[in-house]
Amino acid sequence: MKISNTISKSIFIVSTVSIILVLLITILLQYNNFLQESQEIKTTYIEQKKRHLKKEVDKVYKYIEFRDKEIIDNLKKELKQKVENAYNTALYIYNENKNKKSEQEIKELIVNVLKNYSFTNERSYYFINSNKGRAILFNKESYLDSYKDVWNLYDVKGEYIIQKQSTIALNHGSGYITNHFVKPDLTNNKQYPKLSYIKHFEPFNWHIGIGEYLDDIEKQVQDTILNYVASIRYDKSGYIFINTLDKKALIFSGEKQNPIKIYPDYELFKKQLDVSTNSEGGFIRYNFTKLDSKKEYPKIAYVKRYEKWGWMIGTGAYIDEIDEIIEQKKLFLKNSVFFQLELAFIFILLVILIIYFISKKTSSLINMHIENFINEFKIATKEFKKINTYNLVYDEFKTLANSLNQTLEQRNKDYEKLNNYTKIINEHIISSSTDLNGMITDVSQAFCEISGFTKEELIGQNHNIIRDPSLSKEFYEEVWEQLNKNNSFKGEIKNRKKSGESYWVDIIIQPIFENGVKIGYTAIKHDITDKKRIEELSITDELTKLYNRRYFNIKIEELILKATKKEQVLSLFIMDVDYFKKYNDTYGHQEGDEALIKISTFLKSFFKEYKSYVFRLGGEEFAILLISKDKEEAVYLANSLKEGIEDLKIIHEKSEVSSYMTSSTGLAFLEKEMESKELYIKADKALYKAKQEGRNKVSII
Ligand code: GH3
Ligand code: MG
Ligand code: MG
Repeated sequence: MKISNTISKSIFIVSTVSIILVLLITILLQYNNFLQESQEIKTTYIEQKKRHLKKEVDKVYKYIEFRDKEIIDNLKKELKQKVENAYNTALYIYNENKNKKSEQEIKELIVNVLKNYSFTNERSYYFINSNKGRAILFNKESYLDSYKDVWNLYDVKGEYIIQKQSTIALNHGSGYITNHFVKPDLTNNKQYPKLSYIKHFEPFNWHIGIGEYLDDIEKQVQDTILNYVASIRYDKSGYIFINTLDKKALIFSGEKQNPIKIYPDYELFKKQLDVSTNSEGGFIRYNFTKLDSKKEYPKIAYVKRYEKWGWMIGTGAYIDEIDEIIEQKKLFLKNSVFFQLELAFIFILLVILIIYFISKKTSSLINMHIENFINEFKIATKEFKKINTYNLVYDEFKTLANSLNQTLEQRNKDYEKLNNYTKIINEHIISSSTDLNGMITDVSQAFCEISGFTKEELIGQNHNIIRDPSLSKEFYEEVWEQLNKNNSFKGEIKNRKKSGESYWVDIIIQPIFENGVKIGYTAIKHDITDKKRIEELSITDELTKLYNRRYFNIKIEELILKATKKEQVLSLFIMDVDYFKKYNDTYGHQEGDEALIKISTFLKSFFKEYKSYVFRLGGEEFAILLISKDKEEAVYLANSLKEGIEDLKIIHEKSEVSSYMTSSTGLAFLEKEMESKELYIKADKALYKAKQEGRNKVSII
């Protein structure tokens, strides 16, 4: 991944995520505000509604109170006016006639005039009583001719009506009086509250008065009030209802009830009754149908009593309206959020586009500088120079280039040094590399020189090309055993030159690994041919070219160690030519030597295939150290050897066992913790036994 891409991606992601986050937070805050606001609106709305309801009811209450008071005031004025009229009329009649007519005649004139006046469905009329308790005009009847004593007349409340009126007349001249009295047009004898005004008529010591039945007036006014209140509408569906304390609905659902009906919902009525015991009135909550719908909606109402008339005045409002308002607000908010989102989307799109172009530009700029830097670096590396900092714009690159230059400088020095070393190594160190299959991949100049091959002839060839056939199979097995264990092999190897000549090297073969996987081997060799020649001479028997006794003494120790370690079957053959003295004596010493050479050559080729070493111990005595598969193989080989020697058909006339040269062999196996000496003695004893038993024999102990 390129740095520039990472930077531009980061810019892009960070800014986009930030914008989206800001947007989300804004919307979240708005929504939160809305939630708070809705709650506040709801509370404020209900409070406001409550105030409004109370105001509406208070308005009606005050109106009723005013009208109620007005009734009495108007009535009082009216009664007073009527009595004043009657009084003036009576006084006029009296003054006109006092000198012309008798007192009785004047009285009759007055009574007759006043008798004919009546008001309010005949229920209101003038009455005249003497202040001493005689009825003059009583229930529209004249009592001038008869005598009616009403002094002790009292009403249902025990009020002495006439006495009270007379007292007012005499003491105050005029005044109002409230009492109860029957209605003249009714026969039920029930007394109704009545307000009267009386005035002292001095000429005859009378009091003239007139009264009105209060309930009649009240009923009339209440009727107009109910008509008016029923017509009140405010807001969308606001109306006033009025119920009586005795469960009658006067105005129900905004309509004046005619006839008056019993309030249909007892529970609701009870609520109104309870809450209105408070003189200030109170609020109730319930569900009620709307005027324009049949469905019930939650409602809040304010109810206040007009105690005097036993009325409960109330009005309610549907609080579902607030939900509608909130719903509208929500819709508004939603629309505004969507609008904001649209705007934000366009904004984000624009910003993203701008950021995209900026980051693209930045990215290509950075890219250009990085590429420039990389190019300079490549050139510097390739040409073993320093990075040219002149073309680098950014300080960071310059700093980096300077550090790299230091490293490059050091590397160039090291490279030169290494080159020199390599040259020296190439020229003087015999080294070669192969792959895992032993195919040569590289050789040093020194290698070419010693082997006599050119580099071209060697590369791609198997390493066997320089193998000397005289080295035993066992030796190579040992080499591979080490290498397969990923160990390095150290040893001395005999190689062959292109010319066929042998040379010896001291060798270290080391596996080569790449990323933990073995890919081949490298060998570093050191020419030890001269040393080896001397060494060879010291361990070789001059006549037979077999290993000599000295080497036998070294090798037996080595093999015992190895066989013990590897639990191999090691056997020692000591072979002695039979009647060799006689051969010498018969054919001469020279022929004896020839025979010894023949036998040696045979021994060498006979044991070539086996892990074995053949020695001439001295004279016509030979030793073979053999590592065999098992003991049987060794026994078998000992017998084959015996046959093989006889089969050489070296004529030996003086031999007592054959006409050819024969041999006797003593065979002994290495046993546990056996030392070389013991093994040797054992084999020697076996040989002695073979000789004893008549020669041309193999004896095993
Ligand atoms: P045996 O069957 O008991 O082994 O009798 P042998 O005659 O083979 O054994 P002996 O030990 O009596 O004789 C060995 C002879 O080998 C004596 C010596 O002259 C001869 N000899 C030893 N070294 C050489 C040698 O290098 N060349 C020749 N030609 N003869 C040798
Ligand atoms: Mg012998
Ligand atoms: Mg001998």
